[in-house]
Amino acid sequence: MTSLQAPKGTFDILPPDAERRQGLETAARKILGAAGYRRIETPAFEATELFARGVGEATDIVQKEMYTFDDGGGRSLTLRPEGTAPVCRAYVEHGMHKLPQPVKFWYLSSFFRAEQPQKGRYRQFWQVGAETIGAAGPETDAEMIVLLAELLEAMLVKGTRLRLSSLGSPETRQQYRERLTAYLREHESRLSSEVRDRIGLNPLRAFDATDPGTREVMAAAPRLLDALEADDAEHFAAVRELLDASDVRYEIDPTLVRGLDYYTRTVFEFTSDALGAQSGVGGGGRYDRLIEQLGGQPTPASGWAAGVERILMSGTEPPIAPDPVDLFIALSDRDAGTAAAAFVVAREARRAGMAAQLELTGRSLKGQLKQADRIGARYVAIVEGDSRATLKEMSSGEQQELSLSAVIPTVLRGSRLT
Ligand code: AMP
Repeated sequence: MTSLQAPKGTFDILPPDAERRQGLETAARKILGAAGYRRIETPAFEATELFARGVGEATDIVQKEMYTFDDGGGRSLTLRPEGTAPVCRAYVEHGMHKLPQPVKFWYLSSFFRAEQPQKGRYRQFWQVGAETIGAAGPETDAEMIVLLAELLEAMLVKGTRLRLSSLGSPETRQQYRERLTAYLREHESRLSSEVRDRIGLNPLRAFDATDPGTREVMAAAPRLLDALEADDAEHFAAVRELLDASDVRYEIDPTLVRGLDYYTRTVFEFTSDALGAQSGVGGGGRYDRLIEQLGGQPTPASGWAAGVERILMSGTEPPIAPDPVDLFIALSDRDAGTAAAAFVVAREARRAGMAAQLELTGRSLKGQLKQADRIGARYVAIVEGDSRATLKEMSSGEQQELSLSAVIPTVLRGSRLT
C-alpha cells in the first residue's frame, strides 16, 4: 500500500511556515487596522450562484476552476475561489448599507481553484485581501493601492512593479467590446485558436495571449483606455495624481485585464521580479456594480487580494523566533506523586502568565535538561516528590533547592539564584 499524501496542488503549513504567516498577519492587521479596516471571515463554501453572478460566467474561474458539489439536497455549492463576492454577499445579507459608509474589511483566508499546480500556483492557497464598500472617489482607489504597497514593503517583497489601468464603465466597455470584437474578427486568421474560440465570450482576454500571432494583432488593437468617458477619465487621472503625490511608482498598462468580470474604472496589479512565471503578487480594482448584481442597492466599492504564498516566496522578512519558554518542568523520578506535583506547577505557571512546558516523554534527567536547552527555556524546575524542587537558571547554570511553592514566585521575580 502506498502511503497517503496531501492532494496535488495542496500543501501543509508546518510550524516554521505558520510562524512566517503569523508575521504577515500581524503586518496586515497593523497596516490595515490603522486605516480603519476590520477583519471579516466568510464560509469556505457558498452557493455556486454567488460566483456565477459575482465573478462572471465568462471568466476562467467560473468556467474551469471551481470546486463545485451538491450539498446532498440538490443545491449546488462551491468552495470559494475568491473573496470579493462573499464579502459583498455578507455586506448585503447583513444590511451593512445602514452602517456609516464606507465599510472597510480585510480578510486572510484560504481559497480553492482547480488549476494546474506549479510553483506559486496551488489548488488551495491563501489570500490577504481588503475591500472598501460604499465610497466612490479616487482617494479610495489610491488609498487601497497605497495600503497594498505598504504591506508588500513591510514584508520586504523584492522587485515589485505596479501596473495600473482603468476599465471605465460597463457601458463604455460594451461599446469597446463590440469594436474590439469586430477588429478581432477582421484579423481572425492570425489569432490562436483559443483566442478565436473566445472572441464572442471574452474578447478582452486576447490581450493576455502569449502566442506571437495574437500578440502582433493585439499590438495594433483599439485600446479601452483611449475610449473612456470624460468622468471615468477624470477619475483615473485623479487616482494617478494621488499616487504621484504619495510617491508610489506605477506603469500605465492599457492591456491590463483582470481575470474577473466585475471591475469598473481602476484596476491594478503588483508583480515581483523575484517570482518565476507566476509573477502576480496581488491586485484588484473598483467594482461599482457588483453589490447591485448581488441584490443590494447600487453601492460603489473597491478592493484587492494578494497571494500569501507569493508574498512569502518573494519576501525576505526574517522568520519569527519561536515563542520564548520561561520554565521547563522536569521530573527527578517516575513517581506518581512527583508527576502530579509537576503537572500542577506547569498549570499554575501558565496561569501566572508564563510560557511553561512539562516533560511529557519520560526522558532521563539528563535528557530532560537537554530538551530544556533545545527549546530555549530560561529556567528548569526539577520537581522532587510533591514538595521540593531544584530550580536551575539555564544561562548561568546556577541552581538552588527550594520548596515547590517557591518556584513560580522565584521565576516571576527573575531574581538571580544563589
Ligand atoms: P486573483 O484573485 O486571481 O486576482 O489573485 C490575486 C492574487 O492571489 C494573485 O496575484 C496571486 O498572488 C494569488 N493567487 C491567485 N491564484 C492563486 C493560486 N492558484 N495559487 C497561489 N496563489 C494564487
